[in-house]
Amino acid sequence: NVIKIDDSGGYYEVFQDGAETKLEKAKITLDDCLACSGCITSAESVLITMQTHEELYNVLKSNKQARQEGRVDEVKTVVVSIAPQSRASIAARYNLTPQQVFRRMTHFFQSLGVDYVFDTSFSQDFSLLESARESPSMNKTNKSKGFEDSSLPMLASSCPGWICYAEKTHGFILPYISQTKSPQQIMGSIVKDYFAKKIGVMPNNIYHVGIMMCYDKKLEASRTDFFDEKYQTRDVDCVITTVEVIDMFEEQNYNIKESPESYLHSLTKTTQDGQLLRSSGSASGGFLEFILEYSARELFGITEIDVERAKGVMVKTGRNKDFKEVILEVEGEPLLKFASAYGFRNIQNLVRKIKNGNMQYHYIEVMACPSGCINGGGQLKPSETVPIKEWINEVNNVYRSVDALSPEQNEV
Ligand code: SF4
Repeated sequence: NVIKIDDSGGYYEVFQDGAETKLEKAKITLDDCLACSGCITSAESVLITMQTHEELYNVLKSNKQARQEGRVDEVKTVVVSIAPQSRASIAARYNLTPQQVFRRMTHFFQSLGVDYVFDTSFSQDFSLLESARESPSMNKTNKSKGFEDSSLPMLASSCPGWICYAEKTHGFILPYISQTKSPQQIMGSIVKDYFAKKIGVMPNNIYHVGIMMCYDKKLEASRTDFFDEKYQTRDVDCVITTVEVIDMFEEQNYNIKESPESYLHSLTKTTQDGQLLRSSGSASGGFLEFILEYSARELFGITEIDVERAKGVMVKTGRNKDFKEVILEVEGEPLLKFASAYGFRNIQNLVRKIKNGNMQYHYIEVMACPSGCINGGGQLKPSETVPIKEWINEVNNVYRSVDALSPEQNEV
């Protein structure tokens, strides 16, 4: 059957025998809004239009002109921070390793005039450690009170799609959300504070670009929370998605398959000596895995568990792979109960259950995208012949092909 629209805007379903039925108009109200950023406010869309790769081109062009005209004090130091999920997506598309992609992207951005290209695994690790220390499961009183503590469960804070949804629709849930900044915004603080001091440049003289896996990261970077009043600058000035990076490759006639490679810039241990490492845990940031292992060790002295490999813990997934429970049990008693909930269908269930007091977990890793960040809205899509599930698995495998470093071993 096909759908036909007539001159007056009426919709008809046309059957194979030629018969037609007029379709009822669907009614959509604000109650149906999932805050998926598919229809954002006009103020938000203005902020987003300021966050395109065209803006990066403008800054690089101004730098070039300022240098030519001797106005060196107007030249901005340009820093690009690349998320490991974006790297994995590009690596899977071009059949390269994440290390090759990172070295070639370093070459590409440097050839455009970018000064430094960093990896965000360190800020991901920073976010993991902060979240673990903040977790209520780390509070010894909660250990004795079990799940009666009204502050449980703690909910992850790194996904701006989920935060936007919670803020716009479910105010009551905000106190459950972790206070820790996302890896993107921690990278912003590192670049505009620690790194700015290290190279002796004022924060407002650095233009910081994040290469990220979703459009929601643009909204996150635009939040007033992350604007430095003193220096009148944002921690992350511009976010470019993985898809937009491919647009840049095309615009610049750049062929990553044949590209020379540059030595990696090293800010932290994950890129030391030109070698690339990643944070441990899942491609959505590894929050569930790390916080559970950290809490087990610090509270109960249990070190023999590895959540990523389901060692020493009970992992329960039903038909719905986007909701997973991970339980640490000793002699039949659940000591720690964690979960991950991906996608708005699971998020809606979760919110309802927390409201009814039926969500007895210490921690829940909440992510707006089904399958998490590896399947973010700004990631590359598979070719028509490859099923989406197969593609997500492939990108996930590429992500995990990089050796992992424990967040506690990652140092500057
Ligand atoms: Fe972005 Fe999706 Fe990851 Fe949330 S889950 S941070 S929306 S890619």
